[in-house]
Amino acid sequence: MFVVGLTGGIGSGKTAASDYLASKGITVVDADLAARLVVLPGKTALKAIEARFGADVIAADGTLDRRALRQIVFADDNARRDLEAITHPAIGAEIMQQLQASQSPYTVLVSPLLLETSQHQMANRIMLVDVPEALQIERTRNRDDVPASQVEAIIAAQMSRTEKRQKADDIVVNDGSLHELHEKLDHLHTQYLEMARSS
Ligand code: ATP
Repeated sequence: MFVVGLTGGIGSGKTAASDYLASKGITVVDADLAARLVVLPGKTALKAIEARFGADVIAADGTLDRRALRQIVFADDNARRDLEAITHPAIGAEIMQQLQASQSPYTVLVSPLLLETSQHQMANRIMLVDVPEALQIERTRNRDDVPASQVEAIIAAQMSRTEKRQKADDIVVNDGSLHELHEKLDHLHTQYLEMARSS
């Protein structure tokens, strides 16, 4: 099993990059999807969240009330740490299961929190999609129709680009067209196939 961890800040192009690699037949495991799966009704993590935070964080239909939970953890570091202590191991286990089920020559693990969590330990190689901040803001605003200040606040809360660059093995600068992004990925894809073969 050869795993390429793919990360990057908000609006950097993680999805654009992982969609392209998926189109080449590579299995993509999405940490955001795994995070949603582990808190579905009936899952152990959801029961633990209810036990810690109370029935108010469970909606009438039995699903997690994310807004209520966000309000609790937003201003309370202890609550946030408790939440992460419940969710991170569950997400990690879900990701590992999906990675192990993958049949493609190598597997991409796409995660905005790859480097901030222990998820990077599951990756043999770290690929960072990196763009200048102005472009991050512009592309996110075009996609989500949100104010620049909101994107800036998210960027400020994320690990800095400098730190991410230091931790990455491969850096894809996504400041050109999608075609240029694909060309850069073609090159890395060939390298990853070779690395996976010889690993
Ligand atoms: P998030 O972390 O916010 O989910 P992301 O890193 O997955 O973001 P994408 O959704 O892939 O980022 O890209 C952000 C937006 O920018 C999308 O609308 C995408 O189509 C667009 N985009 C990405 N790369 C390029 C590019 N090279 N040229 C033009 N648009 C791009």
